[in-house]
Amino acid sequence: MVWVVPFRLPAARINWTNSAFLIGTAVVTITAVPWYLWHYHADAFQIGMFLFYCAATGMSITLGYHRLFAHKAFEARWPVRLLTLMFGAAAFENAALNWVSDHRRHHKHVDGAEDPYDISQGFWYAHMGWILFKLDPEPPLDNVADLRKDPLLRFQSDFYVPIAVGLGFLVPAGLGWLHAGAVGALGGFLLAGVARVTVVQHMTFFINSLCHTIGSRPYSDRCSARDSWIMALFTFGEGYHNYHHEFQHDYRNGVKWWQWDPTKWSIWTLERIRLVSGLRRVSEEKILLLQLSEARRRLDERLACRVTPLQGRMRLLLQNSGVKLHQLGDRWAAIKAEYSEKKDIKVEHARAALAEIRHEVRHAFDLLELASAVA
Ligand SMILES: [Zn+2]
Ligand SMILES: [Zn+2]
Repeated sequence: MVWVVPFRLPAARINWTNSAFLIGTAVVTITAVPWYLWHYHADAFQIGMFLFYCAATGMSITLGYHRLFAHKAFEARWPVRLLTLMFGAAAFENAALNWVSDHRRHHKHVDGAEDPYDISQGFWYAHMGWILFKLDPEPPLDNVADLRKDPLLRFQSDFYVPIAVGLGFLVPAGLGWLHAGAVGALGGFLLAGVARVTVVQHMTFFINSLCHTIGSRPYSDRCSARDSWIMALFTFGEGYHNYHHEFQHDYRNGVKWWQWDPTKWSIWTLERIRLVSGLRRVSEEKILLLQLSEARRRLDERLACRVTPLQGRMRLLLQNSGVKLHQLGDRWAAIKAEYSEKKDIKVEHARAALAEIRHEVRHAFDLLELASAVA
């Protein structure tokens, strides 16, 4: 008899520490946590501590590891750096130096062989497979020289495991003990410790998997990153990933004022109380012009499509939209030229033109959606 082995695990490449931790915390979360809740319930203290830990560790990753350290989207005074490094460690996503090194390679080589969480290798690989098979020792940290200058980052890297275990598991267990003895300690360990680690880790993993799979690409389709408001709800605002990959140094991921991005609101608030400064923003003009050229490119592509050719009114609508966008692009170039010649040009004039571009770009994307629905 011939045994067919459909899939062979590359055992030599398994990172046993990462795998044991990821699988162990997930198993405890779906077994011991429901058991605890069934027997002892969770009181307001335990629920409050769970939510606090979700927010503190989750935002330390998005605000600290990601936007501050990886992208330098703003500058932060030491209390912000210290707190995000401490609670970032408690998220068990590696020391900031390693995390940032991976993330900078992700942006530089997105969708390519050197992208650590390359989505083209499959959804589960990008989600957590890359961690289970992560090389040990890791590739050299040759792209974080700027961060090594900060003694706080070096300290966190040197003492990552004791900080992570201490603040991530022992502190919630200790607080639970003070609140309700041994049962409280177990609850703190299981809920604000293990279950919270699982939840926050998968929130981050979803940015690498789902945010490169579902959603729209209003800024560019040069890479797989997508914008999704649903993902933003679960990731403290990181779901606007298409925007982020185009303008990675912007402190906002949800760039529109109404887009759900608690991380950008927190950074803005920290600026008000002078704990952070130098917030980097891409100008509205630059964002709109990128959208305009993207809308024009897609209209041309759709009109030239031979597989599902457009006929009649829909074709005319798309053509008209393309002409309008072209005219608006020319008009904006003329306004810019005028700006450089004489300084007294009315700002309202430019604002009106940008508002018209915004309106027409939205119209073009609506038409494209309609055209693909009727095709
Ligand atoms: Zn990405
Ligand atoms: Zn990023």
